[in-house]
Amino acid sequence: MKLVEDTDNKILDTKKVSDKEAEEAFKTILTWMGEDPSREGLLETPKRVVKAFKEYFGGYTEDANKILEKTFGDVEGYDDMVVEKNISVSSHCEHHMAPIVGTAHVAYIPNERVVGLSKLARVVEVFSKRLQTQERLTMQVAQALMTSLDAKGVAVTIDAAHQLWQWEALKKKMQQQLQIIS
Ligand SMILES: [Zn+2]
Repeated sequence: MKLVEDTDNKILDTKKVSDKEAEEAFKTILTWMGEDPSREGLLETPKRVVKAFKEYFGGYTEDANKILEKTFGDVEGYDDMVVEKNISVSSHCEHHMAPIVGTAHVAYIPNERVVGLSKLARVVEVFSKRLQTQERLTMQVAQALMTSLDAKGVAVTIDAAHQLWQWEALKKKMQQQLQIIS
């Protein structure tokens, strides 16, 4: 299964950027936006944004295979499909860093090894907490299950919307309504 290039498997040996440097960068962005980063309400904002980004993008330091390591072995004869539906997805698109929000449904047919259902949600979370495209996110979850569990089959679907698209759609709709009114 190799539908989309899996860039995250290449461990990037980039220069480590400190929290302080990241905060300075957000200060620059605030100024660029036309804000005054030294006004009271914004003084702590760069620090808070860095903290939030660590939460949004914590998936870069986590390994999905590790999560799937602990399996219930010996499920002899059990080859029913395991399904976990409606897993919340909260990610960010790699093109605009805009939030992507939705749900994932994950299913697999085990081959001797089964994991706890909560682990499926954790795997979705690890890959969600990276910059993503919907296609790659789907592929990475499926691939992790295939390789780590040696599953007989995997199905992953993600229903998600990019908030920028939703905003564009809403704007278009509002414009149409305004045209009708005027
Ligand atoms: Zn985007």
